[in-house]
Order: sequence, then C-alpha cells, then structure tokens
Amino acid sequence: MAGTARRLIEAFQRKFQTELVPRVYRAPGRVNLIGEHTDYNLGFVLPVALELACYVAVAPRDDGWIRVYSANMDQERSWPVEALEELQRSGDWSDYVAGVAVQLHKAGVAIHACDLYIDSEVPTGSGLSSSAALEVSTALAFLDGRPMDPLELARICRAAEVEFVGMPCGIMDQYISIFGRRNAALKIDCRSLKFDVVRLPERAQFVAVNTMVKHELGSSAYRDRVRECQEAVTRIQSRYPSVQSLRDATLEHLGLLDGVVLKRARHVITENERVERFVTAAARADLVEMGRLFVDSHRSLQYDYEVSCEELDFLVDTAIAIPGVYGARMTGGGFGGCTVNLMAPSVAERFRQEIAAKYRERFGFEPAFYPVVPSDGAGPVVV
Ligand code: ADP
Ligand code: MG
Repeated sequence: MAGTARRLIEAFQRKFQTELVPRVYRAPGRVNLIGEHTDYNLGFVLPVALELACYVAVAPRDDGWIRVYSANMDQERSWPVEALEELQRSGDWSDYVAGVAVQLHKAGVAIHACDLYIDSEVPTGSGLSSSAALEVSTALAFLDGRPMDPLELARICRAAEVEFVGMPCGIMDQYISIFGRRNAALKIDCRSLKFDVVRLPERAQFVAVNTMVKHELGSSAYRDRVRECQEAVTRIQSRYPSVQSLRDATLEHLGLLDGVVLKRARHVITENERVERFVTAAARADLVEMGRLFVDSHRSLQYDYEVSCEELDFLVDTAIAIPGVYGARMTGGGFGGCTVNLMAPSVAERFRQEIAAKYRERFGFEPAFYPVVPSDGAGPVVV
C-alpha cells in the first residue's frame, strides 16, 4: 500500500509539474457475498471490502481551480471552484468526481482548489464497485484530513452517484468502502444503516472471476428493476399499508402480485432470507450450505430478477461442476462483471485453470481472477 502511494506521489509530481508532496487516500472496491439488489429495497447485504482499491493523491492549488487526472482513463478535467453550484452532468467518468465535490459543497463542506491524481486497481464496470471506490477516495481527498462522520460520508458519496451521475443505486457500495473490515464481511441492514461483523470460516476460500464483459442493457435494466420493485410495494401497500419497502414484504404478499413484478418481489424477499441463512451457516462453518445459498441466489437472479447473462451463467455452471467448489453466483448489478465462488483452498489452483480453459474455449478470451481478501475500509495512506 505504501509502495503504491509512493509511486502515485511520483506520478502526481510528474503530471502536475510540481515538487509539492501530495497526500494520498485509498478507498477499496468490494465483493458482495450475498444479498443482491436488496440494498435499494432497504434489505440486507453481505459485502467484503477488497484489497483492490482506488488511490487519490491531492495537493492544493492557488488559482481557484480543481484539476483532476485519471490515470486509468488517461484524461484530465478541470473546473473553477466557484462554478461548482452550476456544474452540469457531462456523461463521463468525471461526473463521479464533480458529483462528490457538489454534494460535499451542498453539505456545507468548503471545497478548496486542488490537483487530484486518480489511479485505481479496481476494474471498472465489473461489479466490484470501482465507482464507489472512486467517490469515496475522492471525497477523502477533498476533505483532506477534515473529519466527517463516516455514515454522512457514505450518504454524500451515494448522493453523488444518484443525483449527479444519475444512477439510482443503494448505499451498499459506498458503505462497505468506508466501513470495511480486515478478515470479515459486514452484514449491513440497509434500512437502519447498522452492521454486524461476520467472520468467515477459515476453510472458506472466495474467488471472484471477471467475465470481462459489460452488456449495454445494464444501466437501463437497473432503473427498470428499481421501478418494478416500487410497483410491487405500491400494489402490496394497497392492502397492507405498513409495507414501506420490499424489506417489509413476505411470501404471503406475493398473492397480490403477478407477472414480472411478482418475480422481482420474490427475488428480493427470498434473497433477504438467504442473507440471514448464509450468516447462520457461516457461523457454524457449514460450507455446503453456504455454497447452496450461493447457487440459489444465482438462480433467483437469473430467472426471477433476470439480471444475469450468458457469460455469468456459464461461469457459475462451470464452477459448480468442479469437485470442491461449494457454490458460485453473480455479484454486483449483473449483465456482465464478476461471479463470486466458494471453494476449499486446495481447489483454488485447479479451479483457476479449468475455468480459464473452458471460458476461453467457449468465448474466445480469458476471464480475470481476483482472490477475495477482506480488507479495511477507506482512509489516508501513510507513506
Ligand atoms: P462498477 O462500480 O461496478 O465498477 P459502474 O458502472 O458503477 O461499475 O462504475 C464504473 C464507472 O466509474 C466507469 O465507467 C467510470 O466512469 C467510473 N470510474 C471508476 N473508476 C474510475 C477511475 N479510476 N477513473 C475514472 N473513472 C472511473
Ligand atoms: Mg458502481
């Protein structure tokens, strides 16, 4: 981590032609173990923060401008600080950065002129939440040491994505990037915004596999799902006014629904239950049950929520046919991105070889593999 920060500092100095030593902030990506598409329904999720993170180096400027460079995009953008209130969405990556500045400003945080150098290890658009890693690391860079309540920080970063970028996401990604714990998953209650630390069995090896595809349908389908869930709530409410979100709904309520809306609601209701059962299974180190819940979750996302795709289904089906693999499921929003797989550590090498070979044979290119090492949440990097 310190090595990464030192390289970032040198790159910053080269890019911005300065001898100033910037400060460096880090915010991790995440893998959600189970509880998919439940966060915006105020239900339960079980993510882990990854070692893979977005790093931002920051140093002040004296000309009233914010200048931001993304090494991943190899692009630079700049805005005068005094124009923040009138900033409009531009439709590219810089919206995440501008959105964070705008939301911090709205929350009463003075935004100072600065240079920002962004370099992220989190693959973009792969369901590992590069967007929240970018938002949170950027927010810490703008704050640059000024304290902020972590929950307020998560809310501000989420508001940047919902209001400025225009993606109606839940709070999971920003939350886990901030609150993540080394060696543990967090079971987050997306209504109370409280979490329980969930220790994972030592014999459990989690591996994320990237399909390396992102289907265009993704963001419009996400909005459709948010709307369909709201529709389900409205219909259930007509009989049961106390149901405020799908979090409050039970399988008995499904009798009021039909068609697509019924399927969406059934996914959310059963997925919330699976989170609870997964946590219980993890406590007794029941890897077989944990794996079974992974597969049930995937099938529910595939058939009821309809957010999977051919590549994800192929990875899951191939993985669960390998002896020693307990289960697999898509993770993140869907339509591409990653699967998360549960296996015995002794199987990991064989898993990798077999998945790589079969995926290449089927689709003509290789997937990427990431070990899931639960890490701490965002913060400054001491060099
Ligand atoms: P995910 O969060 O799963 O990676 P999203 O579609 O939510 O996928 O966010 C990906 C988008 O976030 C990218 O298309 C890009 O606009 C932005 N982004 C993420 N990381 C960076 C980065 N290092 N530099 C610039 N933009 C980034
Ligand atoms: Mg994202």
